[in-house]
Amino acid sequence: MQIQNMCPKCGIACNFREEDGKVYMACGHCDYKSEFKNYTVHECKECGYDKAIITFYGVIIGDEPPLQLYKCLKCGFVDREGVS
Ligand SMILES: [Zn+2]
Ligand SMILES: [Zn+2]
Repeated sequence: MQIQNMCPKCGIACNFREEDGKVYMACGHCDYKSEFKNYTVHECKECGYDKAIITFYGVIIGDEPPLQLYKCLKCGFVDREGVS
């Protein structure tokens, strides 16, 4: 799964921000802004914010389970949890 936060105009990663309880992604380069719904509730260990993006860090070789990464929408801290 890939993070869908690329600006369609510029092709660079957008920033996330919360307004009125909704999460938006906004480009820092142009005026692109879109509501982002593909987040999950996960409390950040760094700042305590409760919304994050899930990405998977797949492990193809070996017996280790893939890691599920939670990236905080506020501070960008990445928390990792193994999934089985
Ligand atoms: Zn842009
Ligand atoms: Zn955070």
